[in-house]
Parts: sequence; structure tokens; C-alpha cells
Amino acid sequence: MKGKIKVFSRFVNTTKETRALANRQSKSLNQNYLLRFLLRRNDKLDEILIFVTSNSKIMTTKILIIGACGQIGTELTMKLRSIYGNENVIASDIRKLNTDIVNNGIFEVVNALDYNQIEHLVEHYQITDVYLMAALLSATAEKNPAFAWDLNMNSLFHVLNLAKAKKIKKIFWPSSIAVFGPTTPRENTPQYTIMEPTTVYGISKQTGERWCEYYHHQYGVDVRSIRYPGLISWTTEPGGGTTDYAVDIYHKALKDEKYECFLSEDTKLPMMYMNDAIRATVEIMQAKAEDIKIRSSYNLAGISFTPAEIAKEIKKYIPNFSISYKPDFRQKIADSWPASIDDSRARTDWSWKHQFEIDVMTEVMLENLRK
Ligand code: NAD
Repeated sequence: MKGKIKVFSRFVNTTKETRALANRQSKSLNQNYLLRFLLRRNDKLDEILIFVTSNSKIMTTKILIIGACGQIGTELTMKLRSIYGNENVIASDIRKLNTDIVNNGIFEVVNALDYNQIEHLVEHYQITDVYLMAALLSATAEKNPAFAWDLNMNSLFHVLNLAKAKKIKKIFWPSSIAVFGPTTPRENTPQYTIMEPTTVYGISKQTGERWCEYYHHQYGVDVRSIRYPGLISWTTEPGGGTTDYAVDIYHKALKDEKYECFLSEDTKLPMMYMNDAIRATVEIMQAKAEDIKIRSSYNLAGISFTPAEIAKEIKKYIPNFSISYKPDFRQKIADSWPASIDDSRARTDWSWKHQFEIDVMTEVMLENLRK
């Protein structure tokens, strides 16, 4: 509980008059709380009344996740429910796409492009924190640039404006390594560097970062963001990104013992096992506001590898596994992205550190997908 707590009075053998006084006082305070304790001492009943005055609030974190049925949203929802309790985490998506998420807690259908729908949920559940995971990803966005721009930008504006209007307290919004472009230094890409993205997805993420920083500086909005690398998980299918091959490859290795990769064998990209990404998300949201010094988005690194390197790791468990390469339109996107990321600012500011390396990740992925 945070705020000013005032002990109004302590009554011994409470009388009718003192209770009436307490009730009057209680009503005169807007939105206050009256806590009443009865204590028995030496056979006498003592009553202690505590008023929590109107500028006080019981600080419960109430979370709304928009896009909860996606690759990241699914695992994030499960993690947040385990930390904050099912009743404090409201999952939402445009459709009921994942039975685990829909059936194991509160779920609402919402369109991230509809401000009124989001505002209604925020008010109804007294939401404090919003995690906006709905977006069109890199490969899908290239097929429908106008809609990608609409969804990726306007959903962000809706949430930023809710925070500006003080209806919510904190926002998590993911950015991506797609904010970088072909003119960015590819190895150990710095936090601050040339950013000339060539995809509509990258343009939308870079613009989103600028707006996040603007809303923080101009309106004090507490928005926090990470530039996720390509994410690898076994629970949910990836949602149409350029790094999806690094998930597909495990599925096909187990099913067919072979895989045709849509990127060339030496395309090195920054990647991360999902557990690390979820932990980073929770940690940045739980960090003290003053420690979050970058309000556009933080570089975040895990492991960088090529399709040939991941195939080599898989062969340790499935010796007959073979890989072939047939680059498609996603090769051009991958070529415009960094190969490795310098995330020293995240490490310094909020103590980020990745845990999963490629060998452990491969073992865990194969073990779980075999079940
Ligand atoms: P995803 O495509 O798997 O999931 C997105 C979810 O949003 C889906 O469940 C979808 O139904 C939902 N959605 C789409 N339109 C919606 C709408 N109008 N209203 C409500 N929900 C809607 O994506 P993901 O991989 O989980 O990515 C989540 C976020 O993280 C995105 O912003 C993405 O850009 C970012 N990101 C992801 C990766 C990655 O490797 N997965 C990497 C970098 C950044």
C-alpha cells in the first residue's frame, strides 16, 4: 500500500457517538479507505480506526496483454500470471487463438486498433500496466505495408494516449533489431548508430521508438522497450518473421530429418531463447523508473548464429539431419539486419544478462518438441 496513512483515532470501548464521527469523517474523504481493527485487551474491546486518505491507493499491479495469443504473448502471459496471479493478468487478442491462454485465466477479445475497446478494458479491470504485443511482423508486413503501418503505429498511439491521460501507469512495447538497416555497422551494433531501416516493419518500429521517447519526455509516460532479436521457442509457432527458420528447423529436424532453409547458410543474425526474452521483459518492467535511462528502446543480445551453425548443433542429437538452402524474399530483409548486438546499456542500466547459449537451447528445444 502506498500513500499517506493517517491513524484517525483509537477508541476504547467504542461508543455510538465515536462511531458516528468516524462514519462522517469516512464519507467526507473522497475515495478513502477505512480500516477497522478490534483488539481485546484485559477483557476490554479496543477499536482502532485507520483512515487512508484520498491521495492514497492500494497499489495492485493489474496487467492487460494485447496480442496475448502470439509467439511471445503466450509465454509472457503464463509468466505474468505466475508472478502476479491469474486475477491480475488480463490476456486479450483479436481472436481466441490459444486455448491455454483463453481457458486458464481472464481473456477478452479486443481489437488493438479500437481505442474505445482498450479504454473499456482498462477502466473495467482498473489496469495499471499494458503490454502491447499485437503487431504485423517483418515478413508478413512486407506483403501488406499499409496495414502493417496502420496496426503497428495506431495500436501504439492508443496505448500511449491512455498513459498520457493517466488511465494507465506503465507500458511495455517491443521494438526489434529491424530498426537497423544496411548502413548500420553489422557486428556488435551499438545502441546509438545509423538507423536506416528498409522494411515497413523496421520503419514502424523505429518510428514507434521515437514516439515512445517523445511521450516520455513531453508527458512523463512510463514506457519501456526492448529491441528483441529473433526469438526461439517450442510452445508456439512463430508469427511471420524473418528469423522464423530458427524455430521451423527444429520441428522439421524431428519430423523429416531434413530442412530447406529460406536464408543462406552464412546469414548470421542475433537470436535469443524465449525464456531469456521473457525474463528481460519482466526485469525491465520491474526495474526502478530512474534506472530506465533509455526511453526509445534498449539493444538486447543473446546469441548470434548462422543456419549452418544451428544445423551443426542439431546434428549432435539427430545425426542423419540434413539442411539445404533456398533463399527467398526474406534473405534481403536478413541482409539488412545486424549480425550481432552490443547490449551493454541494458547490462549497465538494469542488470540484464542472457543465460541460454546455442547448445543448451538446442537440447531444450528438441527435448520439449519430442514430448
Ligand atoms: P505474433 O504474430 O506471434 O503475435 C501477435 C499477436 O497479436 C497474435 O496473437 C495476433 O492475433 C495478435 N493481433 C494481431 N492483430 C491484432 C489486433 N488488431 N488486435 C489484437 N491482437 C492482434 O508476434 P510475436 O512474435 O508474439 O511478437 C510480439 C511483438 O514482439 C511484436 O510487436 C513484434 O514486432 C515484436 N517482436 C517479435 C520478435 C520475434 O522474434 N517473435 C522479434 C522482435 C520483435
